[in-house]
Amino acid sequence: MILIFIFIIGLCIGSFLNVVIYRTEKDISIVSPSSFCPQCKSPIKWYDNIPVISYLILGGKCRNCKNRISYWYPAVELLSAVLTTVLFLKWGYENTFWFVAATLISYVLIVVSVIDFKTMMLSDLFSYIIAFIGIISSFYNPLFEGNLYSKISSSVLGIIAGAGSIYLLMKIGKIIYKKDAVGDGDMFLMGAIGSFVGAKGIIDVVIIASFLGAAYGFILIITKKLERFSYIPFGPFLSGASIIKIYFNIKILNLFN
Ligand SMILES: [Zn+2]
Repeated sequence: MILIFIFIIGLCIGSFLNVVIYRTEKDISIVSPSSFCPQCKSPIKWYDNIPVISYLILGGKCRNCKNRISYWYPAVELLSAVLTTVLFLKWGYENTFWFVAATLISYVLIVVSVIDFKTMMLSDLFSYIIAFIGIISSFYNPLFEGNLYSKISSSVLGIIAGAGSIYLLMKIGKIIYKKDAVGDGDMFLMGAIGSFVGAKGIIDVVIIASFLGAAYGFILIITKKLERFSYIPFGPFLSGASIIKIYFNIKILNLFN
């Protein structure tokens, strides 16, 4: 029963994340009133704004103009609901504070990833929010050990290692390719991820993200959707990898010991 409740809460938050994603892309205020159809601008009634269900009832089309509603909307709602439920099952009872922190981080990562997927842009503001949550929740972070002081240090060192490694990569990339191979946005995102996976965790995240990215690239190639040299955003894979990392606490380096 409680899980159904958590799932529904996750759907509703996902619905809000859609608003944040849409309004960040279009650079409009998040606090301005009701939702509207992106195509015909007609306001969306509350009964047409029920997460996932309304999308199914309307057959993925706007009630007013019959234009297709992007599948991103129900996808974000479902992803948000599933993540909330899964993280609740893992930490909801025994480490409630960390459950809240980890779900908040996941929500921001969903927003970051979808925007990166659609626009190839990473907003630094979201990275700052994640880093902030990462630091203040570090005491409850199950990846970190020791007393309060050493846990906060782990978080801060993670930020430095994450951002620093991408900074080095940027400098090296610039020397080799004579142009920017990685962006500033990736640097801030990697620093943000470091705040909750720690310095060593960064290595795990990069390895997992590479596998995810390779798998995605492979799917694109076999479905012939990938044009040669087309740009694949790395933000979504880093985000996904960081959630996998904290959930399973994978320590790839230990596998070689
Ligand atoms: Zn419409």
